[in-house]
Amino acid sequence: MSIALEFHGATEGVTGSCHQISFAKESLLIDCGIFQGKEARAHSDLTINFDISTLKGLILTHAHLDHIGRVPYLLAAGYTGPIYTSIPTSHLVPKQLEDALKIGFTKDQKLIMRVINVLKRRIVPCKYKQWISVSDSFKIKFHPAGHILGSAFVEVAVRVISGKNYKGFNNTKRIVFSGDLGAPYTPILSMPQSPYQADILVLESTYGNRTHSGRKGRRNSLLSVLKKSLSDNGIIIIPAFAIGRTQELLYELNEIVENKKLPRLPVIIDSPLANKFTALFSDLKAFWDRESKRSLKGGDNPFLFPGLVYVNSHKDHLKTLRWLNDKGGPAIVIAGSGMCTGGRVVNYLKDFLPDHRNDILFVGYQAYGTPGRDIITYGSNKRRRGHVTIDGKQISIGAGIYELSGYSAHADKDNLVRWVKRIRRKPSKIFLVHGETEAKKSLKNQLNIMGLDVTVAREKRYVINLEP
Ligand SMILES: [Zn+2]
Repeated sequence: MSIALEFHGATEGVTGSCHQISFAKESLLIDCGIFQGKEARAHSDLTINFDISTLKGLILTHAHLDHIGRVPYLLAAGYTGPIYTSIPTSHLVPKQLEDALKIGFTKDQKLIMRVINVLKRRIVPCKYKQWISVSDSFKIKFHPAGHILGSAFVEVAVRVISGKNYKGFNNTKRIVFSGDLGAPYTPILSMPQSPYQADILVLESTYGNRTHSGRKGRRNSLLSVLKKSLSDNGIIIIPAFAIGRTQELLYELNEIVENKKLPRLPVIIDSPLANKFTALFSDLKAFWDRESKRSLKGGDNPFLFPGLVYVNSHKDHLKTLRWLNDKGGPAIVIAGSGMCTGGRVVNYLKDFLPDHRNDILFVGYQAYGTPGRDIITYGSNKRRRGHVTIDGKQISIGAGIYELSGYSAHADKDNLVRWVKRIRRKPSKIFLVHGETEAKKSLKNQLNIMGLDVTVAREKRYVINLEP
């Protein structure tokens, strides 16, 4: 039997995830994300440019925009089928896309809501670890991926055909799409477990060449960076994704503040979107891991602690900026976007990046071509510090620049290799996606050592023959 795989994105870098699997005149799409940074310039036209006439279902692995941002284009291209997500993701996706449409397309709230309502009607929320029948050829199952709340890796069972007859789903081939895999011991999330079987594996490789420090090490480095930065009463700016990273940071800061490891200081979350998601995270407590449920039961809400301020309206945002400009630090500000490509963090960078008393703390992956990556490139070398262009303005980098990769919400090289190792029935073919060249090369080497057949996915169609 032959299965075709096509990669419509996430082949050159970490954005634009969109993979299509075809079998017997039916196909499924796994994710439909937008491109960011350098890749966005290479893919300025986001119109759907591939065949969707055979599409029986769209599966979304999680609610990050580089996995869902192109969904409105898919609807515009005429896709009217179901959109399968985990239950938490089904709540996060409409909020995330509503915001993206507001920023990128139109201020017309009625038009936006029309798109969002269509989207909501198409979404099919699925329980983890339960088979969902999609079409004659496909069944799917979501498994927790530990990346952000609701994230999943997806097992696709393809019905085996023997001769002219369907042999049914008793004997199936399994194609596993990793989505984004999380690091173990991420606050709030359970650890990703490996599937039992994968005949073909499509694997992310974001940190295929890096190892993170463990949870304890991560918390300690966060604390030491914070202490160091606060010693000169500066302002610490943490650019963070609204979903996942912000809540993860709040969880860690809560622990640090409640245990009085830092003097009391304002912790400002300036992002209406992040604040919406933090509230949603609270509503979705049922999906938290055991540890966070236990501390909640003990009366400690990780999203409330002394000094924590949520800023929502634009007026309050400007007021906060003015207040910080007048009063100075110490203060911690968490604002989006995570790679400084837009959002309120831009105003903070304009005001506070030039001053050496301040510090910028990156806790997430910074894609090539984003201001975040440029700040790291031109700001990390203390002797040859440069400028960065943000919002069309040149800004000198005076602030200290720090990177804490452990808060990446992504598995590192060892985690990825271990996850593959624990698959009992190993894949006969692995495709690497969602990584930069060096990361993919390094991970490919590691997996080759295990005797596995690894292909670095390109933006094209692969036909794979599997023994029935
Ligand atoms: Zn992600």
